Amino acid sequence: MTTTELLQYDREHIWHPYTSTIDPLPVYPVANAEGVTITLKDGRKLIDGMSSWWAAVHGYNHPVLNAAAKEQLNKMSHIMFGGFTHEPAVELAVKLLPLLPPGMEKIFFADSGSVAVEVALKMAIQYWQSQKKPKKCKFATIRSGYHGDTWHAMSVCDPETGMHGIFSGSLPVQYFIPQPSVKFGEEWKEEAIIPLHELLEKQADEIAALILEPIVQGAGGMYFYSPDFLVRARELCNRYHVLLIFDEIATGFGRTGKLFAWEHTGTIPDIMCIGKALTGGYLTLSATITHTRIADIICSGEAGCFMHGPTFMGNPLACAIASASVSLLLESGWQEKVKKIEKQLSEELAPATTFETVKEVRVLGAIGVIEMKEPVRMAFLQKRFVEEGIWVRPFGRLVYLMPPFIITSQELSKLTGSLLKILKER
Ligand code: PMP
Repeated sequence: MTTTELLQYDREHIWHPYTSTIDPLPVYPVANAEGVTITLKDGRKLIDGMSSWWAAVHGYNHPVLNAAAKEQLNKMSHIMFGGFTHEPAVELAVKLLPLLPPGMEKIFFADSGSVAVEVALKMAIQYWQSQKKPKKCKFATIRSGYHGDTWHAMSVCDPETGMHGIFSGSLPVQYFIPQPSVKFGEEWKEEAIIPLHELLEKQADEIAALILEPIVQGAGGMYFYSPDFLVRARELCNRYHVLLIFDEIATGFGRTGKLFAWEHTGTIPDIMCIGKALTGGYLTLSATITHTRIADIICSGEAGCFMHGPTFMGNPLACAIASASVSLLLESGWQEKVKKIEKQLSEELAPATTFETVKEVRVLGAIGVIEMKEPVRMAFLQKRFVEEGIWVRPFGRLVYLMPPFIITSQELSKLTGSLLKILKER
C-alpha cells in the first residue's frame, strides 16, 4: 500500500479521536518510533512532546520492555482471569502495592483508564449498598476534571471542558463544585474548601464518593491546584461519610515529580485508579486499588462479590510489560530526570509569558503548559509543528508538553525552542 492509498483509506473509513468523518483533521502516517524520536513514513523525524498522552515515559521501542513482551508472548499472550491466575499479574501486584498508599491492598486489573474509573465508581456504589444505604448513589467532583470517555466516567467530567457536554441530557447528573481556587504553590486559603463543605453538608446522604484528579487536572484543563485541597477534602469526606477516589491515571508514575500525586500531601484515598504509563505506553492496562476493609464491605453485600469482570482482565502480556516498566522506572533515576525536565521547562517556556496571545505558562514535574487566550487552530499548528520536527498536540486553548522522561536536554530544547518559535508566528 502506498502512503497515498493508506491515507485515502484511513480518511474514508477510520475514525480518529475526536475527529470528524466529514472533514477529518490530517493524520500523519508513522513508520516507527524509537526513544523520543517518531519517524514518519516520509522519513521526517519528530521529537515527541506528548509521551502518547502521558503513557510512554521510557520512550518508544525500549529493549527492556520489548524483551519482556517477547518472553511473555512465548508463554501466552492471554488467558481468562476467571478461575485462573498467573505470574505476570501476581508479580505486578507484588511490585505495585508497596508503591501505593499504605493500606491499599486489593487490586482490580482492568483494561483502560475509563474502565478503571467505572470500576472505582461501581465499587463506591456497592460499598454503600452493602451497608443498606442505596440512596448514596451520586458522585461529587470538581469542575474542569476529566475521567474518561465511558458512561459514568463521562458524567464526572466537566460538562463544558470535559468534551462530553453534548451527552448531558442523557448522562446521570452529578454534583459539581468549582475547581479549587488556590493554585499549586500558592498559600492555602480556607475559603477554597467552602463549596465542597457546603455540598457535603447538604447532600452527603446522596453522595457515594468524591472523585478527583489529585493536584493536576489533565484533559479538562491542565490546571495545577493546591495539595491542601486534598487534605481538607479528606477531612470532609471522613466527616460526612463520603468515599474519596483519586484518579491517578494521568498523574501516576512520576509525571508530577512524585511517583503518585497523593504523595504531595500524604493524603490517602479510599479508592485509586492508575493506567496510562503503567505499561510504559506499550499496551492498554489499568488498575483500581482499594483497602481490604472497603473490599470486604463490598463483598459482604447482597451480590457477595464485586460485580465486574472484563474479558481481558489481568491480561498477562500487558501485566508482564507493566512489571518490567515499573522496575525500569524505579531503577531509572526518574526523580532526577523529572526534576531536570521541570527546571528546563520552567526556564525555556517562561519567555512565552510575554507573548500577546498567551494567558499563562505553568510547569509542574514533567508537564509544561502554555494556556493561550483564544482556542488554537489545531490543524495549522499541528502542520507547523511537524514541519519543525516536533510532535505536540494542543487542544482548545492549551498547548502543552509532557515528554518521555528519557529526553535529553538538547532534545527538550529543540521541543521548547520550536514550540515558542511557532506560537510567536501566530
Ligand atoms: N482519567 C484521566 C485522569 C485521564 O487523563 C484519562 C485519559 N485521558 C482517563 C481517565 C481515561 O483513560 P483511557 O483513555 O485509558 O480510557
